[in-house]
Amino acid sequence: MSEIENVVIIGSGPAGWTSAIYASRADLNPLCVIGVPKSTPSIVLPGGQLMLTTEVENYPGFPEGITGPELMAGFQKQAERFGARSLSKDIVSCDFSTRPFALETSSGETIFAKSVIIATGATANWLGIENEMRLAMSGGGVSACAVCDGALPVYRDQPLAVVGGGDSALEEASYLTKFASEVFIIHRRDEFRASKAMQQRIFDSEKATPVWNKVVVDVLGEDSITGILLQDTVTGEESTLEVKGMFVAIGHTPATAFLDGSGIALDDKGYINLATRSSATNIEGVFAAGDVADSHYRQAISAAGMGCQAAIDAEQYLAH
Ligand code: NAP
Repeated sequence: MSEIENVVIIGSGPAGWTSAIYASRADLNPLCVIGVPKSTPSIVLPGGQLMLTTEVENYPGFPEGITGPELMAGFQKQAERFGARSLSKDIVSCDFSTRPFALETSSGETIFAKSVIIATGATANWLGIENEMRLAMSGGGVSACAVCDGALPVYRDQPLAVVGGGDSALEEASYLTKFASEVFIIHRRDEFRASKAMQQRIFDSEKATPVWNKVVVDVLGEDSITGILLQDTVTGEESTLEVKGMFVAIGHTPATAFLDGSGIALDDKGYINLATRSSATNIEGVFAAGDVADSHYRQAISAAGMGCQAAIDAEQYLAH
């Protein structure tokens, strides 16, 4: 058997790196499995979702704001300064029935660990329409990340659509107003779910137009999007809206598929269940932190706080 790690941290967003900072400062010599770079933003990225965020204005300590990638680079550097080690692999399955725990990587190796912190975050949801996927995969103007793609020349001075009514949708729409001629926010109800401040920013924008009570039933265009077919959720009437880009922002799914069969308890949405006031999962020695175990707050700062808790919990577990 290869060397047994004290603590393996899976995931490299704010939760993962914060637990790495705490675990390395506690002399636990953590191994951080940071994921493999992906070609699509709809799946978990090394560095987590902040890698898809330009300006982070609500992370304390940065009064002028900071970009997501800069912030994550700082997290990583800080963890590495105390000796945290990084491995660019994905974990594809976990065996928590044995001690030490056995984690299988995407390249078929097994990592053995006395404790594990799961911090794999969550990924973007899609509408599930055939032409949406086709155009998303072919770079035809459909995306789940305005921050990644919105500044591309193809979207400049063009009408664009954002789908969703939460903070993500309004944040993406607000970002797109910098480039687009007009941004339509397609929402299935007549009221946004997003925070009041975000709503105000949209209502104040001359370029953003809410389109209430509509769902997207088809995405039009062969090689690239030319418009979307909408259906009114009240009257059932269909209409076409001409747009040159569609950005889907309808929430996220926790990255917990690799935990299938591992015995870790999940809630009905697939997020990890935690003990009260603790980062402990139902399996002793396995902890979780960040969006993978938090469908409610989902903030970088709350994920970082959970990462800190998980490292302290792991340290106490290992000490006993
Ligand atoms: P969310 O709050 O769950 O909102 C998802 C939106 O998509 C909802 O408006 C929902 O409609 C709509 N939706 C879901 N499925 C749909 C479907 N199949 N077709 C059409 N519309 C659909 O997700 P989120 O915006 O990603 O935010 C998640 C969490 O992160 C929230 O707690 C949010 O506050 C937080 N967040 C915060 C910030 C920030 O503070 N800067 C930024 C981004 C996210 P309904 O409203 O009808 O359900």
